[in-house]
Amino acid sequence: MKTLFEHGTLATLMAANLDGTITLEELLKHGSQGLGTFVGLDGEVVILDGEVYQAVSSGKVNKITDMKQKLPFASVHFPETQYRIQLDEGNFEIVNKELPKKYELQNVFAAINLKGEFPFIHTRIAAKQVKPYPSLLEVAQDQAEFTYENIKGTIVGYYAPEIFNSVTAGGWHLHFISDDRQVAGHILEFRGENLTGNLEVFDTFEQHFPVEDQEFRRGTVNLETLKADIAASEGNDD
Ligand SMILES: [Zn+2]
Repeated sequence: MKTLFEHGTLATLMAANLDGTITLEELLKHGSQGLGTFVGLDGEVVILDGEVYQAVSSGKVNKITDMKQKLPFASVHFPETQYRIQLDEGNFEIVNKELPKKYELQNVFAAINLKGEFPFIHTRIAAKQVKPYPSLLEVAQDQAEFTYENIKGTIVGYYAPEIFNSVTAGGWHLHFISDDRQVAGHILEFRGENLTGNLEVFDTFEQHFPVEDQEFRRGTVNLETLKADIAASEGNDD
């Protein structure tokens, strides 16, 4: 059994439930690789080899060692080599169109890890919000964006089938971290070279809910605008 563990849902983030509802300590029991965000959408989290990094909106990357820190949303798993990937060139066009076709991902969850050189990468980092929290869409309209050239690093992320778009982001959701751990973020666009890594397909999706959180329990999601809002705030170029 290969399990992808997710805490919180993208829909409730969209509905501005940004309080932390799982500790890193608890989250890391379910995986050593993944992505997420901290309380109030404080940055973009990358978890790699059990180490936790937070890119904050100034562009700085913090290594997080306080396991009491909480997250409103995160996805993690324990990586195992399944399908080795080698791409002379990589970008969203290839990742969005070729990989789902080649590995028949349309109805499954998958993870990817790609390490290599990046002649170009365009990232965003959400800025920390305070209560009353705005919606993720409002945050996304005012996000910090960065571009880097000729940087070495690793992409980690997940693929979700379109039918799950709103539980998490449909399609690929990718974060980046540089080899020197000085640069990280949520990927909007990239061009990679000599990428090697691993693709994994999950047979189990474990959705964990913050049932103790009153705002989560009472929150309402606007289904009318949800998909368009997700596309506007999480979309990548392809
Ligand atoms: Zn992200």
